[in-house]
Amino acid sequence: MPLARSVRRYIQKRQPRLPFQGRQGCRFQMKRPPSVQPWHFHECILPDAQCLNQIPHFYYSVHTHFIGALYNTIMEKRTIAILGATGSIGTQALDIVSRYPDRFHAVCLTAHASSEKLFDLVRKYRPTCAALNIAPERIPEDVQFCEWFFGPDSTVQALLASRAQDALCAIVGIAGLDAVWAALDVCERVLLANKEALVTGGDLVMKKAADRRIPMLPVDSEHSAIFQCLQARQNNAVRRLLLTASGGALRTWRKADMFNATVRDVLKHPTWNMGGKITVDCASMVNKGLEIIEAHHLFDMPAEKIDVVVHPQSVIHSMIEFADGAVLAQMGMPDMRGPIGYAMGWPERLPYDAKPVNFYELGHLDFAAPDFDRFPALKMAIEALKAGGSAPVILNGANEAAVGAFLRERIPFGRIPEIIGHALEAVPQTAIASIRDVYAADAAARADAENTIRRLTC
Ligand code: NDP
Ligand code: MG
Repeated sequence: MPLARSVRRYIQKRQPRLPFQGRQGCRFQMKRPPSVQPWHFHECILPDAQCLNQIPHFYYSVHTHFIGALYNTIMEKRTIAILGATGSIGTQALDIVSRYPDRFHAVCLTAHASSEKLFDLVRKYRPTCAALNIAPERIPEDVQFCEWFFGPDSTVQALLASRAQDALCAIVGIAGLDAVWAALDVCERVLLANKEALVTGGDLVMKKAADRRIPMLPVDSEHSAIFQCLQARQNNAVRRLLLTASGGALRTWRKADMFNATVRDVLKHPTWNMGGKITVDCASMVNKGLEIIEAHHLFDMPAEKIDVVVHPQSVIHSMIEFADGAVLAQMGMPDMRGPIGYAMGWPERLPYDAKPVNFYELGHLDFAAPDFDRFPALKMAIEALKAGGSAPVILNGANEAAVGAFLRERIPFGRIPEIIGHALEAVPQTAIASIRDVYAADAAARADAENTIRRLTC
């Protein structure tokens, strides 16, 4: 395609002139000359607030948006690995792939154990590689055209074999950390839904992304909202990030009733339709705590500059505040295909049949401060972020164990914060210098949580 070649040449010609003088990870360098992408013109770790300050707006808007859009229009399909393809985020991402068959090819689909679901997806999307952690008894003949991987490392093996340009990391929990780590080795962009990977390995993951100059595009709706707002800020410093929270299924419940909320009560999220673990996290507001930690890493913001605003309608997805008090908000009806599509098509917006915001129908939007008395785990997450080191890993590990126990009806809902609190007190907090340290802290937290659970269930 001669036009495509000229665009590449145009992009390459301008490369040395880019004035990225920021911190280490923000300096522009051609990663792999033959596959230079327009988004390399954006600072590479998206969006480092300080780093963004140093990008003249002209370069930012012209290079990123114009060239990016042009490139996306004329270039060949992007290949994407959907890791956690059978989940809530994975299936919605595949819905976008279906709507844009000329833009995306899902070359790698992975899941944990949902073999029948994955077989159906493989039949429909024709990836080159697929993976299941738990090997099924047999693989149907009509899905044998792709390369299959099984076992605990299967996600990473399939990702490597697929040579996907982008990885949508949508595995739930710390189980997705290895995949994010591997994606940073082999992909051009990482589309991150798996917040637990940043909560646990945040410093290491962000450093690796910076060193390798791999853009991390947020998929979590709040972080996507902040990312979208940041693109309108020109050179102005951001004073505060405001993460909105729906408040979860138990927002209006009395503290005494919350303790014995059933799995059914907790899984009834008022505004979002999501996987089980994150829906429980929303009800305990641990999710918002994890998101504060995620925002800290993605946007290089200290805990003190990240606030939570309870907003039950989930129409404002998050906001940024400037030094003059001005606040930018990103709004839309709650539908994860918005932020997923934004990350997939970035910097272009991919049109789909999104329900428009009808302000007349809405009438009003409500806001409240978070109630730390009813949602103590939110406070614990903020404190864990401030403590640093292994504290966020411990919080996450204990929470994953507690949520698992609650979903299996081993413990009442009200025990979740207690289990997390115990692990944070009892497990020695250490520095995190490697992924091995992350897994060691996670194992210690889970062991402590399991002990507490056993004690509570005796
Ligand atoms: P789901 O539970 O719906 O899906 C999880 C996916 O990961 C499934 O494909 C599952 O496979 C796979 N998986 C689970 N455990 C493992 C494992 N040990 N190894 C490999 N794959 C595994 O989760 P969601 O889609 O709701 O969430 C995914 C991530 O995105 C989470 O980190 C969540 O916090 C984040 N997120 C989700 C949002 C949402 O709207 N759902 C919104 C914002 C963020 P299988 O089906 O076989 O179990
Ligand atoms: Mg979110």
